[in-house]
Amino acid sequence: MSKLAIYPGTFDPFTNGHLDIALRSVRLFDHLVIAITTNAKKTPLFTVPQRKALIEKSLPEGLDITVESFDGLLVDYAQERGSIILIRGLRAVSDFEYELQMALLNRRLNPAIETIFKMPSEEYSFLTSTAVKEIAQLGGCVDGLVPVAVKAALIEKFNNNL
Ligand code: ADP
Repeated sequence: MSKLAIYPGTFDPFTNGHLDIALRSVRLFDHLVIAITTNAKKTPLFTVPQRKALIEKSLPEGLDITVESFDGLLVDYAQERGSIILIRGLRAVSDFEYELQMALLNRRLNPAIETIFKMPSEEYSFLTSTAVKEIAQLGGCVDGLVPVAVKAALIEKFNNNL
C-alpha cells in the first residue's frame, strides 16, 4: 500500500520554512499532499487559488507532491484522501503547546490519525508567514525567506521594491 501524507496549513504565503518541511517529508512517503485550509480565522493576504499557484511554482519539479485545498475538518479531509498521516512543523518550543493540542484533538476525532512533527533547518526556525508579510509590507527584503515566486507576488501585492 502506498503511503500518503498530508501537510496541512494556511500557507499565506508559502515560505522557505514550509518548503523545507515539505522536502524533508516527501522523502519519507510515497506521496505528499500540501493541503491549504480554506477556513482561516484571519483574513488571508492571498486567495486559496493564489496560494495554491504560488506553492506549485515554488516546488522543485519531479517530486511526488500535489497541492490541494480543503474546507471542513482536517480529519474528514484526511479520511477522504485515504491518509492517516498529518505532517506539522515545529519551529520552537513556542509552537509545541498549540501543535500538541491540535494533534491530540485530531486523534480524539479520529483515533487512526497520526501527527508527525518535523523540525526545519535552523535558518528557518524563526520564520513565519506573518513576519514575511510584515517585512514585505514595510518594504524590507525577503530574499532567502520565501521562494522567488512568492517574493514576486508580495512585491505585486504591496507594489514596492523589496
Ligand atoms: P497554520 O495556520 O495551520 O499554523 P501555517 O501556514 O502557519 O498554518 O503553518 C503550517 C505548518 O507549517 C504548521 O505546522 C507550522 O508550524 C509549520 N511551519 C510554519 N512555518 C514554519 C517554519 N518556518 N519552519 C517549520 N515549520 C513551519
